[in-house]
Amino acid sequence: MEDKQYLEEADRKFIWHPFTQMKEWEQAQPVIIEEGRGCHLRDIHGKWYLDGVSSLWVNIHGHRKKEIDDAIKAQLEKIAHTTMLGLSNVPAIQLAERLVNLIYSSFIPHPSSLSHVFYSDNGSTSVEVSLKMAFQYWRHRGYEGKTSFLCLDNAYHGDTLGAVSVGGVDIFHKTFGPLLLKTFRAPSPYCYRCEFGMSCPECGMACLGKMEEILMNHHHEIAAVILEPLVQAAGGMIISPSGYLRGVRDLCSRYNVLMIADEVATGFGRTGKMFASEHEGIVPDMLCLSKGITGGYLPLAVTVTNNEIYNAFLGEFRDLKTFFHGHSYTGNPLACAAALACLDIFEREKTVYNMRQATEVLEAWLKDIAVLPHVGDIRSKGLMAGVELVRDKSSKEPFAWEEKIGWRVADYARDHGVLIRPLGNVIVIMPPLSIKIEELKQMLNVLRSAMEEI
Ligand SMILES: *Cc1c(COP(=O)(O)O)cnc(C)c1O
Repeated sequence: MEDKQYLEEADRKFIWHPFTQMKEWEQAQPVIIEEGRGCHLRDIHGKWYLDGVSSLWVNIHGHRKKEIDDAIKAQLEKIAHTTMLGLSNVPAIQLAERLVNLIYSSFIPHPSSLSHVFYSDNGSTSVEVSLKMAFQYWRHRGYEGKTSFLCLDNAYHGDTLGAVSVGGVDIFHKTFGPLLLKTFRAPSPYCYRCEFGMSCPECGMACLGKMEEILMNHHHEIAAVILEPLVQAAGGMIISPSGYLRGVRDLCSRYNVLMIADEVATGFGRTGKMFASEHEGIVPDMLCLSKGITGGYLPLAVTVTNNEIYNAFLGEFRDLKTFFHGHSYTGNPLACAAALACLDIFEREKTVYNMRQATEVLEAWLKDIAVLPHVGDIRSKGLMAGVELVRDKSSKEPFAWEEKIGWRVADYARDHGVLIRPLGNVIVIMPPLSIKIEELKQMLNVLRSAMEEI
């Protein structure tokens, strides 16, 4: 008991938690996790919870997955870390080849082009790498004016300053305005709250039209378009209408700007395909991956680029075409070993195929709760779902964010053994892909009660 009390006090005393108002935290009872198994987490008091957000969208095959545990232990017997600057390592090589082949076989049409893997260690840095690479690529090609980026409202690409610059979630990003790069902003494909007041498909995708207008006028200033394919995740699980992503791909090609697909959240099966871009058969020029890459075990990220970009950086040393970027823990062997084991499980357990049943259960449940009085919109793709709660269903009037309606639902769920983390008024449902049907149903029952109760 003393031990537990000590941990709670020491947490309050020594830790500053991310995205957390610490004044509230200091007054609340922290949940301190000690152990996990499958889709469950156990706190220091012995209470078990369902991990309803996959430990913030990273977990795929569950916790304490034997094959991943073993792969990390086996790698540990060899070496934990060595640098990729001037050296290479075995798991990093194997994983790079595996990823290029996986992308090659997943994407239609075949991207003979996505060919080289640049390692880093989290989603934000994979985005930073893509922005800097895109910028430098155009310099090497002699287009000195292409120094800006086109991004979307409600986008989220991470918390480092470059990634914040291309983000569009005002509540997180506005404070840092004076520090940011100049970017162009296109509308979010947010049909429920369409900024043109139209509805899809009669609108003819006016949001895409607006993007084209910006590209037409400013393509000579724009290095790349960056977006989250299909699902703007942290912006509130906003799902783009069918054809939008393909439309963006066409515009990028037509106006000579690179397309960066940030699949940090959507990659590795989340949306029901290995990569979200597959749903519309498009191939980006750069692909950012992280979160699920190690099955939620260790920090790792990649920025995968095509040959054309890679080749533009080749030259004599004195030409200074080198990409001067790299992190201390880049290509960490333990993380790469975990990622290889994670991909093995995808193949052996046919994870993407087998998650269909859970996806159907989730979709049916969403349809059911759509009739509840405060459920404004339901959105999902694969095992990635958001329920937008509103004060008034007919006018779509939102709850004021200070009311913390999402948090009240999450707190109720936590007291009933389900851990989730809302995005404002959007309840997020994102369990590990390996969740059993019984576990999913239990989780959804609790969430429904929580929404009814609140
Ligand atoms: C989470 C996320 C990031 C940032 O990843 P971190 O590992 O938290 O830095 C970037 N892009 C998208 C789409 C994300 O969901």
